[in-house]
Amino acid sequence: MLKYKLPPLPYNYDALEPYIDKTTMELHYSKHHNTYVMNLNQALENIKIEETSLDEIIKNISKYPVAVRNNGGGHYNHSLYWSLLKPNGGGKPKGSLADAINSAFGTFEDFKIKFSNAAASCFGSGWAWLIVDNNKLYITSTSNQDNPLMDIAPVKGNPILTLDVWEHAYYLQYKYRRTEYIANWWNIVNWDEVSRRFAMYDTVDPYQAFQRE
Ligand code: MN
Repeated sequence: MLKYKLPPLPYNYDALEPYIDKTTMELHYSKHHNTYVMNLNQALENIKIEETSLDEIIKNISKYPVAVRNNGGGHYNHSLYWSLLKPNGGGKPKGSLADAINSAFGTFEDFKIKFSNAAASCFGSGWAWLIVDNNKLYITSTSNQDNPLMDIAPVKGNPILTLDVWEHAYYLQYKYRRTEYIANWWNIVNWDEVSRRFAMYDTVDPYQAFQRE
């Protein structure tokens, strides 16, 4: 059967310094993310699943074993996380995305505070999300490797921005200072990619980049 593969990292391990250090990036991508990919393939092999897209698996995740939920979510979430970072990123969103953020949250600064609070207050391991549902933006968070596309998610929507707040994402550099990692992360957000996702969310399958070969 076909297997999922670790997608290429779109920059070097040290490209996001000083905000995320090289060693964290190398371990996070080549060990943590790669392990989710390998374990997802093993979990799917164990249940002898027919050919199905990750999209369909995630949207019907309640029908699958917990190993598929954890590792399928891990693969999807990390693929998205890498794509939403870039060296010399940050700044502010523009155009229709900026308008939608202002409409939903007041100002960009208000949005930053609300999103940062969602990330900081996520208890234990999880993710903060900016999602689109019926043309409206929402901030939410999930535990472990769950995401807002899963049928078990309490708040559902199409993710256009996400932040990994598992300790493996920041602990080597920031130790217990999660709020400092969150504050610095704004400097490497790839707003062009967030805008692209915002524009396409209802017309293009958000999982098309993560299909099996
Ligand atoms: Mn992670």
